[in-house]
Amino acid sequence: SAKKGGRGQFAWFDAELEQEARERRALELDLKEAVANDEIAPFFQPVFDIATDRLRGFEVLARWTHATRGVVPPDLFIEIAEDVGLIAPLGWSVLRQACLVARSWDPRVRLAVNVSPTQFRDGHLVERMKEVFEETGFDPRRLEIELTETAIMSDFAMAQSTLRQLHALGVTVALDDFGAGFSSLSNLRQLPFDSIKIDGSFISDIKDRPENQRIVSGILALAHGLDLEVTAEGVETDADFDFLQSVKCEMGQGYHFARPMSGEDVAWMLETKWSSLRRMRSSSDPEQ
Ligand code: C2E
Ligand code: MG
Ligand code: MG
Ligand code: MG
Repeated sequence: SAKKGGRGQFAWFDAELEQEARERRALELDLKEAVANDEIAPFFQPVFDIATDRLRGFEVLARWTHATRGVVPPDLFIEIAEDVGLIAPLGWSVLRQACLVARSWDPRVRLAVNVSPTQFRDGHLVERMKEVFEETGFDPRRLEIELTETAIMSDFAMAQSTLRQLHALGVTVALDDFGAGFSSLSNLRQLPFDSIKIDGSFISDIKDRPENQRIVSGILALAHGLDLEVTAEGVETDADFDFLQSVKCEMGQGYHFARPMSGEDVAWMLETKWSSLRRMRSSSDPEQ
């Protein structure tokens, strides 16, 4: 088909683009409906203390199973939601559902929820958070919000005051995807974060990547100097885990521990394998 050339090729190309635009528009409309009906569901991925194997809590991750398309990748529908102004309603729906599900779990188990820049800057974040806590009975001291650097960049004073108000409620704040964006050291120094999450791209295959080892060790030294705890994302292998343990990274999250799972699966795991809030590593575990 490389030989086709001429007008025919452009006509074919236009038709293809048009078809893509139609599909995208259809997906946008379906997403709007799904958000309104609370069909974007919270999944939960465990975060473990690396030194003690203790379960700290779960990151809440939005999942969409479309009636005919099946599972839609989060990166795709999150991007669409951001584009068409659905990300804030999506975030609130997922948070409310997650709080309702997790309310009955062991109260020591915490939740971390992603808050998009738009949702963060809407001007009523703190009041809306309070409403969710009142509505669901979820204890704000069990909640952490995860922000990326883009959320705080445009209005620093506003970010500072919002973080203070969240702290007053007992909510903690993590800086997400650290290292991946425009990570600024002044953000870390001037905003009251409680922890940072190192982007998974620095963690995968870290045993074979000396540069990433140095970057992660550097981030840890910096964070500890500022009294921040560190979570490593994307911990996939024994070797990743061993390295993080050797450099005293506090927490880990990734396929090495568990994949994101439904609330029902979490409830089951809390009754069985994690009943002591510890990760049981038996000799039959493939990871050992
Ligand atoms: P994130 O907040 O950095 O979340 C971590 C991502 O890493 C998740 O992708 C998770 O499934 C994935 N992950 C976990 N362990 C591993 C691992 O061992 N290896 C690899 N390769 N990946 C791992 P997911 O669920 O596809 O979400 C992608 C992004 O979408 C999230 O990145 C977050 O930025 C956004 N997102 C997800 N749910 C929400 C939400 O409810 N609200 C908002 N605003 N954003 C959300
Ligand atoms: Mg996150
Ligand atoms: Mg992240
Ligand atoms: Mg990410």
